[in-house]
Amino acid sequence: MRAVLRTLHLGLLVALAAAQDRTTEAGEAQIDDPNAECAIYSYPPVVAALANFPPIWTPVVSVPENDTVGRAKFLAMNASIPNIAPKGTMTGDFSNFTPTYPATDPDCWWTFHQCTTPNLDGLPDDIASVPEPRTLGYGFDDGPNCSHNAFYDYLTARGQLATMFYIGSNVMDWPLEAQRAVADGHQICVHTWSHRYMTSFPNEGAFGELWYTLQAIKLVTGVTPTCWRPPFGDVDDRIRYIAGQLGLETIIWKYDSFDWQVGLNGITTEDVQQNYDNLIGNVSLGTFDSVGAIMLTHELNNYTMQTAMDNYPALVKAFDHLVPIAVAQNKTNPYVETNFTFPSFTQYIANHSAAQALSNLNSTNGTSSGSGSGSGSGSGSGSGNTTGAAGALSASGSMALALVPAMLGVVVGAGWV
Ligand SMILES: [Zn+2]
Repeated sequence: MRAVLRTLHLGLLVALAAAQDRTTEAGEAQIDDPNAECAIYSYPPVVAALANFPPIWTPVVSVPENDTVGRAKFLAMNASIPNIAPKGTMTGDFSNFTPTYPATDPDCWWTFHQCTTPNLDGLPDDIASVPEPRTLGYGFDDGPNCSHNAFYDYLTARGQLATMFYIGSNVMDWPLEAQRAVADGHQICVHTWSHRYMTSFPNEGAFGELWYTLQAIKLVTGVTPTCWRPPFGDVDDRIRYIAGQLGLETIIWKYDSFDWQVGLNGITTEDVQQNYDNLIGNVSLGTFDSVGAIMLTHELNNYTMQTAMDNYPALVKAFDHLVPIAVAQNKTNPYVETNFTFPSFTQYIANHSAAQALSNLNSTNGTSSGSGSGSGSGSGSGSGNTTGAAGALSASGSMALALVPAMLGVVVGAGWV
């Protein structure tokens, strides 16, 4: 009995030791107990930079004088920001605002009537669909979630990549989880610093919500996104302008799973399943025969991630392709850093057949081990760039992970600017 206990004890110690490598992306990615994943850890580059950021989860009010780069950037655009007044409250109470807001929707305010075609000259339309037919621009909001390893393992095992809309405060809280997205080959976009209603912010706060999320993602992952999604879809021409000045394309959606609202406003899990089913049904109805779809889904909690996994096989069967939004846009430079490239849509689908990956996985009874199986030939990116995301995207999961140390060297050395 004692020997058995000792063996168990040793086993536990070994397991704990393995689970306690919380200093690297690879170590963190191996933790499979959600409670252990969500225990707070300290990451020195973030600790060292904290003084340069607003308080985590607090709506940004201003860009301080000592942030000389941010301050200069804001002042350079401030005079030209459209003269549109902030709306409602940060928590989305527009009851004092909407009664007097003109029915003509002069600000192209998405929250009002889902406007995606700005009134202001020079602003591009929001991306609410993807140009590739019968294709789903596959993405998830609100990460990085501390307990996302099972979900990311699931995607990696199927060779599936997605677009992750990250909250700056989550990136600072869970930097190794944010690094995992890049290591796995996913696309990262900005989802603001504190996840409030953006049209409620005065100009400087709205700028800061985007600016500090960009800085957090750069600090932690080494890349600077060129896309963002407004929390709750709350955007108007003033906010679009500020985002555009920061090089951010506004990505919205046409379909909403309402996974984030389960338990709120009477939304049930059955409603969410119905929304997934409706999207899937629309494919066979021909709805996406000329342009593809974007649906709002989340890595917000274990329920939303599990629902994504539960519906993945049906999505793969229904759509011709599930791809990151940048790939569906043929946007081969998804970041400011030009050493990161994504494949074109044609290149991507040549190497990533989700249906084939699913069938391989089923036939080999594979597990969600994160080994990157079945994602295609793994024959390289075709572009000759093996140092960036293109290599990660087109190669196996193990190759993608092998790219991480070099990248992190850049991250750690780069510091915060
Ligand atoms: Zn969100």
